[in-house]
Amino acid sequence: MPIDRPKPKTGADKARLVKRRKPRRRAKAALSRPVRVRRAPDTAALKHHDTSFRLLFDSNPVPMIVCAQDTERIVAINDAAVAHYGYSRDDFEKLRISDIQAFEQLPPWHGDHSADERAARTWKHVRADGSLIDVAIYARLLTFDDRAAVLLALMDITERKRAEARLAFLAQHDALTGLPNRPLLHQRLDGLLAQTRRGGDKVAVLVLDLDNFKTINDTFGHAVGDRLLKAVARRLRSSLREEDAVARLGSDEFAVVQANVARPEDVALLARRLIETLGGPYMLDGHTIVSSASIGIAVAPGDGDDAEKLLKNADMALSRAKSEAPGTFSFFEAEMDAQAQARRRIETDLRAAIERDVLQPFYQPLIDLRGGRITGFETLVRWPDPVRGMIPPGEFIPVAEETGLIHAIGSLILRRACMDAAQWPDDVRVAVNLSPLQFRIGNLLAVVMDALKTSGLPARRLELEITETLLLDRSDHVLATLHALRALGVRISMDDFGTGYSSLSYLRSFPFDKIKIDQSFVRDLGSNHDAQAIVRSIISLGVGLGITITAEGVETEAELNCLRAEGCHEGQGYLFSRARPQAEIMQLLQAQHKALIARVA
Ligand code: C2E
Ligand code: MG
Ligand code: MG
Repeated sequence: MPIDRPKPKTGADKARLVKRRKPRRRAKAALSRPVRVRRAPDTAALKHHDTSFRLLFDSNPVPMIVCAQDTERIVAINDAAVAHYGYSRDDFEKLRISDIQAFEQLPPWHGDHSADERAARTWKHVRADGSLIDVAIYARLLTFDDRAAVLLALMDITERKRAEARLAFLAQHDALTGLPNRPLLHQRLDGLLAQTRRGGDKVAVLVLDLDNFKTINDTFGHAVGDRLLKAVARRLRSSLREEDAVARLGSDEFAVVQANVARPEDVALLARRLIETLGGPYMLDGHTIVSSASIGIAVAPGDGDDAEKLLKNADMALSRAKSEAPGTFSFFEAEMDAQAQARRRIETDLRAAIERDVLQPFYQPLIDLRGGRITGFETLVRWPDPVRGMIPPGEFIPVAEETGLIHAIGSLILRRACMDAAQWPDDVRVAVNLSPLQFRIGNLLAVVMDALKTSGLPARRLELEITETLLLDRSDHVLATLHALRALGVRISMDDFGTGYSSLSYLRSFPFDKIKIDQSFVRDLGSNHDAQAIVRSIISLGVGLGITITAEGVETEAELNCLRAEGCHEGQGYLFSRARPQAEIMQLLQAQHKALIARVA
């Protein structure tokens, strides 16, 4: 808030003012609108001005001082300045302006700056008790006791500065752990890379992720999850050298930047140490929690020479570590990048294939092992490609799940399967695989109802196959959708049983109509007694619970005989037939129909 000068009223006053004012040249350029104040006024008008200035000065809530322009001595102080700075009036008047400046020697009116530029600057002042304050200064030149002087209004902006610093900190740091966030890490990493480019040293980026964070969060609640993240941040910070950086990238993902790496072994050593440090138990809210971390590593300059590329490559290495051996570390390899590019190519081609409606359902028969009759068909999606031939679902379903294309594929195959099955005899069912991701979007029930309605297929002839991973979370939403589907009359099967967690509690959480024993157990039936014991237990479990048991991947007569002997209800596999297109299915069903009629006759 600049102080307004009292305006001279008469031309004579103005003339006198101009004549008496002799500011130094530099100050003259910098300070605008000089104000004249005299202690011994020679006219009544001036006396009035002096008095009002004095009043304005003395009672102003803003700390103000007047300094002699030549000696820089403080010659007048208002009450607010005395109160704010803590010096007595006498002490104040013995000081020069530079005595209350913490670092600067030159007075605020020094230099060729505009009044606004001066006010935008921050000065550090020392108070009587030694504390430092941030001050913005508004200066005006005036005449005081017939001498050139400067009036300074001193605005304490310490609090505002502190708030600004806090805001700047928050914009670059993670609120939970106080660690730098991704943008700040990017900035620091790029700075470090620019330095090392000259020196020739290596820089390693380690991206870390907790292996079981979601489960801990779900089991113990978010408060414990938050505490765990804070504890992880503390452990990371204390395991690193001063020159290394650490940041939180998001959720349970952290990054460490190791500077001055001389040998790759140094990075491996650090990764091992971090895994060990983070793997120790945490005592949180009376719970002992054990968590492990996986790490992906990229080293500059070989794996990239900017922050973005290094983080991306370290992320790729992390995915490899997590999928192949959680709780370990993995270095980035160029071949991972090639894999990622191949996935991107699949994504582009898959989008085009969906658009051109190229994907086709094939059907593989399910055989009743007692009577040999076809009870139904499992729908398996096929992608015919002019160059690559028939692309198997194992290659594109994971990409479809990652990219969300699974929703389009899922609905499309379901609709086609229901339409085709509506052409089959009334006692033949159709099974369709569902990805857990299809349950995440709320419209699965509507998609199923729509497919049944347009095809006219009775709900009892549709079987939906889900895998154990869907029940991992056992969320209310998933269970509610499954119950709603079953209420329509649709049957629900547990696919690939034995490959996931195979928790018996899954079987209790939902009344499945069918369990499909994974083909890996069937494959070992002839040679492996354990596999036999497992298959036998699953079958007796199914019999006990009144659930149909189907064996997948039956390839040999020996496997078939073994399954029959154990009392398995249904079989599916190359021994009976591979998956075939709809045209062949119609022929197969007609042949079965004829054979049945011949047997009856
Ligand atoms: P799945 O549901 O367990 O399907 C059985 C897989 O085993 C099929 O592989 C089938 O061709 C194969 N198979 C059947 N009999 C034998 C045999 O005797 N020996 C051997 N070695 N394999 C046999 P496919 O068609 O490659 O499908 C692989 C997986 O892809 C399926 O496993 C299923 O999880 C998924 N999938 C297929 N179609 C769809 C779909 O439309 N939607 C979704 N979400 N997933 C699908
Ligand atoms: Mg299946
Ligand atoms: Mg299966």
